[in-house]
Amino acid sequence: LVPRLQPYTSTIFAQMSALATATGSINLGQGFPDSDGPAAMLAVAERAVAGGVNQYPPGPGSLELREAIAFARKRDHGQVFDPQDEILVTVGATEAVAAAVIALCEAGDEVLTLDPSYDSYAAVIAMAGARHTSVPLRDDGAGRFAVDVNEFAAAVTDRTRLVILNTPHNPTGTVLTIEELAGIAKIAVDRDLIVLTDEVYEYLVFGDAAHTPLGTLPGMAERTLTVSSGGKSFNTTGWKIGWVCGPADLVAAVRAVKQFLTYSAGAPFQPAISYALRSESAWVATLRSGLERKRDRLCAGLAAAGFTVSVPQGGYFALADIRPLGEVDGMAFCLALPGRVGVVAVPAEVFTRQPEKWKHVVRFAFCKSDETIDEACSRLSRL
Ligand code: PMP
Ligand code: GLN
Repeated sequence: LVPRLQPYTSTIFAQMSALATATGSINLGQGFPDSDGPAAMLAVAERAVAGGVNQYPPGPGSLELREAIAFARKRDHGQVFDPQDEILVTVGATEAVAAAVIALCEAGDEVLTLDPSYDSYAAVIAMAGARHTSVPLRDDGAGRFAVDVNEFAAAVTDRTRLVILNTPHNPTGTVLTIEELAGIAKIAVDRDLIVLTDEVYEYLVFGDAAHTPLGTLPGMAERTLTVSSGGKSFNTTGWKIGWVCGPADLVAAVRAVKQFLTYSAGAPFQPAISYALRSESAWVATLRSGLERKRDRLCAGLAAAGFTVSVPQGGYFALADIRPLGEVDGMAFCLALPGRVGVVAVPAEVFTRQPEKWKHVVRFAFCKSDETIDEACSRLSRL
């Protein structure tokens, strides 16, 4: 492996899920639900397999799926995309991000992300030979991790080619406010930046938080790549059907790379996700409200076990400070936890370029059955 990719030899999720299996622990590490999506959607996939939808679909995705994505973006966010050339189906959001970074960045260009951020961003920035710069999310004192727009502006340089945002945010659970987004949008317009916004948790927002796609802000549609995926919306993380929407020139660039990475994505899953995007909004609403209750259940259990918990506004994950338990090292804590009490979590330091700052924080997933959450909390209370 080339030296610049040496830091990316294994992902924390593979490592921790293997540990969970080996020790028979409850896995609150890797974020995947433990129940299936809507039955009618699963039936569409089964019929597609039985009915011969098993060869390469069109490279950009089936027209049916691209039309369904356009329909859902319009219905849910008022965004308008032409299915012909403004939407590309990818192998999960992960491939959309990777193809966009490779398509848009020359070696040495800067890619600006929030810090912490989803771990694939740093890896693909390194693969592209680009330079990773970041803006720290700062604890606002009430457990929300906020963007300081002035700090964001200061992090942009003449070499900044691409910004990668993510809201609702993994791992902090922050849902960016309209003020934060407007501040970022103004900087992007002033400095002529392209922004990729990773919105895989777009429907999973809680309480007063509301998800606003960055691409809906003034001046942003022509410079924004909006990425999402069926995985989190329909409990199909293993199907790896994602997409990227944006202006035709940017989508064409991503498509040029995507065609040589994977060419196309899971044929029989495409009609199933098309169906779900059009017809399963009520199911998604129930998923959202269920996850909000699970968030509260996990956060209460973690607090009772002695952690200091930051209650997330969206997504699958809660961050917990381990210092009240007399612990200081999240990585060591997570490696020992399966043996100690049979629970798996992931250390926040794998998501950051400032590991010292996040060393005492660990991430727990709550996209699990109530029984699993309760059992995990009861085990953690023995710490
Ligand atoms: N972005 C974020 C913020 C994520 O949390 C994840 C994984 N859960 C992904 C992208 C990957 O999405 P996909 O499985 O669709 O590739
Ligand atoms: N996005 C999931 C998480 O943050 C994991 C996806 C993966 O395993 N790469 O837990």
